Amino acid sequence: MTRSNGRILILASPSGGGKSTMKARLIELYPDLHFSVSATTRKPRPGETHGKEYFFLSDAKFDDAIEQGDFLEWETVYNGTRYGTLRSQVDHYLKKGYIILFDVDVLGALSIKEAYGEQALAIYLKPPSPEILRERLQKRGTESEDQIAERLARADMELSYIPKFDSVVVNNDLERAWEELKMVVETFLK
Ligand code: ADP
Ligand code: 5GP
Repeated sequence: MTRSNGRILILASPSGGGKSTMKARLIELYPDLHFSVSATTRKPRPGETHGKEYFFLSDAKFDDAIEQGDFLEWETVYNGTRYGTLRSQVDHYLKKGYIILFDVDVLGALSIKEAYGEQALAIYLKPPSPEILRERLQKRGTESEDQIAERLARADMELSYIPKFDSVVVNNDLERAWEELKMVVETFLK
């Protein structure tokens, strides 16, 4: 392990902001990075595997996990769909010196930041405009028009939290945004 310092990177944005894209690049760049796999009550998309992108739980199992105190934080992100960070994904890997990466919604990001303070860097990936955000979600094609509308409807609320974040990267040109993100992360990990 080359950078073992038990730090936390949190990527947040409205849906379609670029978290998954940047997450994949960060994982490739830092071999000692552990992606925190969340639990969710949403159904897997084609190609998604239980334990890799998410732990896909029924509502009843999600309730059990809340009851057992398994979550560091959880949110109802979209209509009736819950997502939560499992404590088991965090402390074990932190102790081992991994960098932990989170891809969570804006509210979850701020909860994790509050829990870990200076150990964590909360990064906001800001879409260039609502129109471009819509286009990217439509082009991605993983949600229905109704679901896209629901995600966009949440974006205003999510954008209002930008001032609470440690860093903001505008995701306009992808390569530029990536360079900027890398610099922000390198500086934090130094
Ligand atoms: P999130 O994980 O935050 O929902 P994604 O990483 O899935 O967002 O990005 C949404 C869509 O936009 C994807 O299809 C992705 O390939 C595309 N995308 C991300 N960043 C850019 C960019 N800078 N320029 C053009 N398309 C982008
Ligand atoms: P998706 O359904 O597109 O995978 O994710 C929807 C939203 O839920 C994204 O904004 C994603 O970052 C967020 N999310 C994923 N896991 C968690 C989590 O554990 N906690 C919170 N609060 N949000 C999460």
